[in-house]
Amino acid sequence: MLGNLKPQAPDKILALMGEYKADTRQGKIDLGVGVYKDPTGLTPVMRAVKAAEQKIWESQDTKAYTGLAGTEEYRDAMASMVLGGVAGDRIASVGTVGGTGAIRQGLELVRMANPDAVIHVSDPTWPNHLSILKFMGQQFVEYPYFDNDTRGVAFEAMLEGLGKAKQGDVVLLHGCCHNPTGANPTAEQWDAVAASLEKTGAIPMIDLAYQGFGDGLDADAAATRMIAERLPEVLIAASCSKNFGIYRERTGILMALTADNKAREMSQGAMAYLNRQTYSFPPDHGARIVSTILTDEALSADWKAELEEVRLTMLGLRTQLAEELRSLSGTDKFDFIADHRGMFSRLGATPEQVARMKEDSAIYMVGDSRLNIAGLNKDSVPVLARAIVEAGV
Ligand code: PMP
Repeated sequence: MLGNLKPQAPDKILALMGEYKADTRQGKIDLGVGVYKDPTGLTPVMRAVKAAEQKIWESQDTKAYTGLAGTEEYRDAMASMVLGGVAGDRIASVGTVGGTGAIRQGLELVRMANPDAVIHVSDPTWPNHLSILKFMGQQFVEYPYFDNDTRGVAFEAMLEGLGKAKQGDVVLLHGCCHNPTGANPTAEQWDAVAASLEKTGAIPMIDLAYQGFGDGLDADAAATRMIAERLPEVLIAASCSKNFGIYRERTGILMALTADNKAREMSQGAMAYLNRQTYSFPPDHGARIVSTILTDEALSADWKAELEEVRLTMLGLRTQLAEELRSLSGTDKFDFIADHRGMFSRLGATPEQVARMKEDSAIYMVGDSRLNIAGLNKDSVPVLARAIVEAGV
């Protein structure tokens, strides 16, 4: 039976990682995979995470099961980090296996509530969104998002696309730090997105995977909070992988904001049921690290300070790269790199130009020209800038 299985298309980003590893050239630059790296190329364990782990190790006296939704401590701490007090009495939530698990469970919840829902996703979006939707056989359509000329949000086209959503459909939005483009709506544009949702009756599902990586912990949640205040029903899939640097602990949360108590109770029950059918209890270790940090003033302050260092490091690299490109190209056409937010920027290069940068300069970025800003450091920025100009981007 198992011999009947068909080969799966390899994950492009993981394949690129393999190619990078096999490259023996000195000074090769990995801008592919989406993990934060410090200027020495390390993805560090954050100080507060280490301290929380020690605290847990010293005090934990059982590893018995928690609950199907995870611990209340974690869910409350996350609700307040993400929503900052908004919609406090409207939240149903469950811990999930990373942000990916939250997205999958969120889409399963949608399917349970309305099997005919069409999911509207940005073009482009994180490839795993599309892959999960295809795997589930859930109907989806793309709405325009990226303007390849300005490398900003094609907002008029986006709004027109969102206007096609129907009541009972779901609009998948990146709460901040859009992956893969790095281009994000302004506050006014977010208001218009909320107005469009109010008009069509489509339900927003917000993927929040980079809170704290863009403009700050609260600023990055501002659009989510505004939508949570305005719309009766909102789904939020949040990940702790990046902002706590706990990628492999698989820590995420799915929140469903509901219009009334009955819908909240039904959602809570359905989400716990979905966890039961997939993995029973969500992983606890990462969730416990997060709640330990967020409920301890000193740990929380230290974590915020380190997260801010991470954010400012990436912003500094953006500014340096934009300036370098300004002087090398003699134009301001690369200024968008400084305006983008989060770990990624889509350069807008052709696949041939991306291939040329790999061949000539050992620079590895994803084929759609998404580059991970955190893969750079002060010394590699000028190398990349030169390669971009030489490739004729
Ligand atoms: N959403 C987006 C847009 C992402 O980029 C990622 C991570 N690459 C995730 C969700 C999920 O992250 P994780 O499952 O590792 O928590």
